[in-house]
Amino acid sequence: MSRIISVVSGKGGVGKTTLTSNLGIVLNKLGKKTLVVDGNITTPNISLHLGIPLYPITIHDVLRGDAHISEAIYDHPTGLSIVPGSISIDDLNKINMDKLSESLNYLKKQADIILLDSPAGLGKESLKSIEVANDIIIVTNPNMPSAVEALKIKEIAERMNKNILGVVINRVNDKKSELSEKEIKNMLELPILTKIPEDSVVPLSIGNKIPVVHFDPFSPSSKAINKFGADLVGKEFEMKEFGFFQRIMTWLRR
Ligand code: ADP
Ligand code: MG
Repeated sequence: MSRIISVVSGKGGVGKTTLTSNLGIVLNKLGKKTLVVDGNITTPNISLHLGIPLYPITIHDVLRGDAHISEAIYDHPTGLSIVPGSISIDDLNKINMDKLSESLNYLKKQADIILLDSPAGLGKESLKSIEVANDIIIVTNPNMPSAVEALKIKEIAERMNKNILGVVINRVNDKKSELSEKEIKNMLELPILTKIPEDSVVPLSIGNKIPVVHFDPFSPSSKAINKFGADLVGKEFEMKEFGFFQRIMTWLRR
């Protein structure tokens, strides 16, 4: 049975789009046909993370009723399927968010896993992305403001009777000033799915328009996302080490 997993957060900028785009690539590589959908309608940016900002037909056309969702599916060079958003502000007119669930239901027939990159906060779009999901992944950073907002999202998802898989703590530095994994677990009363370290390669990879799991597969964040993907689909995590030449090439790209 295919599932729609929404990647959500209370606070913005915690790493949802970074996680969604990279996790999509990892899951696809693990043999699960994965489709990443930009559910961040007001400020879509998954296509920027994936390095292809301009698509002729987007989720915006679909939500406006000008196209069928099947026309908005594209193949990323990694093999991942993607339904991008439009980065043009003109495309924000006449959007009907109620069309999202019927579109996603169609997509369920096309993929094993649909990852929905959601906007932050408690606005209409965010609530919709929770409503349409089978499962929820909550992303937070290890600080009080984002954990408090994560708690609000958790409560909303629970009120909607959604299955919350747990919490991803992103940008972990293991500094004393940070909330620890235990503190976040106790506060949110949810399983901690993974901790992704703060990794200077992440902004570099976004700048280069190559998702970090490709840009530098052996960076700390890539390893964490690869392991998380394997855990999610119940597979053993294994990463073959790069040969000398590949290591030099990866280093030169930095
Ligand atoms: P959101 O989708 O939640 O708004 P993004 O995925 O766009 O957040 O990430 C916001 C910024 O945080 C990005 O510019 C990215 O460079 C940075 N970032 C995300 N994850 C990490 C990480 N693990 N290490 C370092 N920087 C990160
Ligand atoms: Mg985002």
